[in-house]
Amino acid sequence: MCGIVGYIGKQKADSILLSGLQRLEYRGYDSAGIAIINGELEVQKQKGKVSALASTVEGRGGYDGTLGIGHTRWATHGFPNDVNAHPHTSSTGDFALVHNGIIENYNALKRTLTGKGYVFKSETDTEVLVHLIDDIRKQTGLDLVASVQQALTQVDGTYGMALVSKENGEDVLIGARKGSPLLIGVGEDEWFLASDAAPLVEHTRQVIYLDDGEMVVMKRSGYEVMTTENTPLRKEVIELEMSVEAVEKSGYDYFMLKEIMEQPQSIADSMRGRVDAEAGTIKLGGLIG
Ligand code: GLU
Repeated sequence: MCGIVGYIGKQKADSILLSGLQRLEYRGYDSAGIAIINGELEVQKQKGKVSALASTVEGRGGYDGTLGIGHTRWATHGFPNDVNAHPHTSSTGDFALVHNGIIENYNALKRTLTGKGYVFKSETDTEVLVHLIDDIRKQTGLDLVASVQQALTQVDGTYGMALVSKENGEDVLIGARKGSPLLIGVGEDEWFLASDAAPLVEHTRQVIYLDDGEMVVMKRSGYEVMTTENTPLRKEVIELEMSVEAVEKSGYDYFMLKEIMEQPQSIADSMRGRVDAEAGTIKLGGLIG
């Protein structure tokens, strides 16, 4: 299943993102990618294992940026290939986004955005969200956070999403959740974002679990949590007491026990977005396109 990692702080983001993605590998995925902001937005994404992505990143000498997002994809819309892998970037290349979940009304949104001249590079539902945010920002002149909030009111479906950008010269990492888990790791002048505690525990034990309809805006000066309707929230910071190994085993004593206990959730996760109960159809997106 899909995974998200995000980082803003003083350390190089590439190694934090790649090791975080490796900690999410047990969930299964078909492709992986990272986006780093270091003055400019740079994206590296490809089909296959995180280790292959790590080799590509290493081969180009790594990235110097200290802000970035990473993703492991479990395709629902479009084949598992390099182009469909996340992150996806805006047409002007000023922000990149990763997404777990399904945008159910992506066809209608895609038609509208195509009509306005947006060119889709991938077959994913996710790219709709990218161009929608871009379009709202251009049409309304709203800032990036408000544009994300407005875009989220227009999408039906589920998302855990993370977006990186440089706005007005300021680095920003935005995360939002509806139906797909997302949590914040609070460090010393550095903040993390992940879809699971496993990538966080080696960096910090202080976490905030976002609930559905909530989002976080992280800047170098700090982070703010709010609803996606922009109501500020004071969320409790929880201290994770589990070791890295225990987090990986979700608190169970043995991996086998974890696998058994998580079967219902695993089945639900792998079927999400593929079964249309109303229409009585099953779409095996990612397997047969
Ligand atoms: N629906 C998105 C896609 O097909 C995200 C899949 C995922 O959750 O990894 O690219």
